[in-house]
Amino acid sequence: MTSIAIIGAGPGGLLCARMLQQHGIDATVYDSDASADARDAGGSLDLHADTGQIALADAGLLGAFLAVARIEDQAKRSVDRHGTVLGSFVPDEHDTAAPEIDRGQLRALIAAHVRPESVRWGHKLTTATPINEGRHRLTFANGAIAEADLVIGADGVWSRVRPLLTDAAPEYSGVSFLDVRYDDADRRHPGLDRLVGKGHLFARGDDGNAIIAQRNSNNVIRGYVAMRTEPGWAARAGVDVGDPGALRAYLRERFAGWSADLVPFLTDSDGYVDRAIWFLPTPLTWAPNPGVTLLGDAAHAMGPFGGFGVNLALLDAAELAHAIAGEATVDAALRRYEPGMQARAATLAKASNAATRSFFGIDVEHDPDPAMPDQAASHRAYEQGAARYRSERAFTGDWTIAFQTGGGTQVAELAIRVTADGVTGALDGRPFDSATLDGDELRFKARITSPFPAKLACTATVDGDTITGTAKHPVLTVGFTGARSH
Ligand SMILES: Cc1cc2nc3c(=O)[nH]c(=O)nc-3n(C[C@H](O)[C@H](O)[C@H](O)COP(=O)(O)OP(=O)(O)OC[C@H]3O[C@@H](n4cnc5c(N)ncnc54)[C@H](O)[C@@H]3O)c2cc1C
Repeated sequence: MTSIAIIGAGPGGLLCARMLQQHGIDATVYDSDASADARDAGGSLDLHADTGQIALADAGLLGAFLAVARIEDQAKRSVDRHGTVLGSFVPDEHDTAAPEIDRGQLRALIAAHVRPESVRWGHKLTTATPINEGRHRLTFANGAIAEADLVIGADGVWSRVRPLLTDAAPEYSGVSFLDVRYDDADRRHPGLDRLVGKGHLFARGDDGNAIIAQRNSNNVIRGYVAMRTEPGWAARAGVDVGDPGALRAYLRERFAGWSADLVPFLTDSDGYVDRAIWFLPTPLTWAPNPGVTLLGDAAHAMGPFGGFGVNLALLDAAELAHAIAGEATVDAALRRYEPGMQARAATLAKASNAATRSFFGIDVEHDPDPAMPDQAASHRAYEQGAARYRSERAFTGDWTIAFQTGGGTQVAELAIRVTADGVTGALDGRPFDSATLDGDELRFKARITSPFPAKLACTATVDGDTITGTAKHPVLTVGFTGARSH
């Protein structure tokens, strides 16, 4: 039996373990944190209908997510440094395209559905050494040693697993965030509480500075004081981030000319954590190695604008678990999982890295009239993407079908592959053409040679593992039904 080690109990690593365990496959998760709540996990995340929510549904956790998610906090408002409103978005009450959840809540929610004995907290991976045939020896800072046939690197941007696959290293984005928080917001920070309202407030200067504030649960506001700056900016400026007085004085100076209403975001935080933003090069691919793979930030850390990071980590995890459960070998599972994951991440990373740089005026002229991205369009795109993903997945596979002809039944093998690039496939090994997916219905034209050579115009719908359709020839139409053979 294949032994699986997942390095990293962030959202991606935990979800992968949860789903493997649902499939009856053992996996052990190792994380450097002492426990799921040992560290402040950070601010709020929105889980998109077409990625994060699909993964949670696959893991049987969508209901638990929606029970704590904050639908009303999908609202967004954009202002300039004088506080002038540039744009706003208010979701309607039934909009579940991208509800928010506190990071800590998300991690705890998934961790609660992983077998506790399978998570080894306090295990910081120091080295992973190939032994033979894809097997690796894992050494941890606490002295523990383990071996695994498959090592899944879910250990974030500074992954210790990634060097087994590629030399690619994170590159500094040009932007650093200071994580800020305002507890007991309505009582202790009423001005900020009113300004943030529901959801997010984006305040953007023309000076490479920004404030991004977000409503969290339990009367907490969190966010980021964001700066276009060099790595190690604090040391260069002689500022100790652990000294709030010195840091606040530095920020006041750096944000000179900002509205007095916004300044308390700089000066009144209950704590400051420095989070420099690093991207991995994109596209990032590697030669397949049957004993190692990556998911989430370890595979494709990208800029935060677009909010894809955690959503992709969750979807990667779900797809990897499905592939491991569905394929006969790990090798086959990784061949099924990695190319799609890498291609999807490359597209989104390119967009979010460019959006992050452009927001801070890096390598582009500052936009004097920055419109807020069209949030309603993004929400529609998440919903449409979810429908497309579900039908792609429903059709994709190998099917054994039986045509009901006047002369009895005739069995054939139908292969269907639906991707974002289109539909391809074959009937009894002969590629079909003119394939389109129209809602729930697949249409394609296929050639047969028996009982006579002909071209058939086919339609098909899928219900779980059953496919039903018709094949039309100028002189007759026959029905077919079939089942998934793979
Ligand atoms: C400032 C900021 C804002 C962001 N905002 C958003 C947003 O709004 N929306 C969004 O979708 N994404 C956002 N992201 C990105 C998001 O946080 C990540 O994409 C997401 O957390 C990735 O999940 P993951 O499971 O791959 O990795 P992580 O969440 O990074 O988890 C990695 C885990 O691995 C563990 N680990 C690391 N090294 C080791 C080791 N050597 N041994 C053992 N364990 C180890 C860590 O303790 C951690 O638990 C933001 C990121 C930043 C920095």
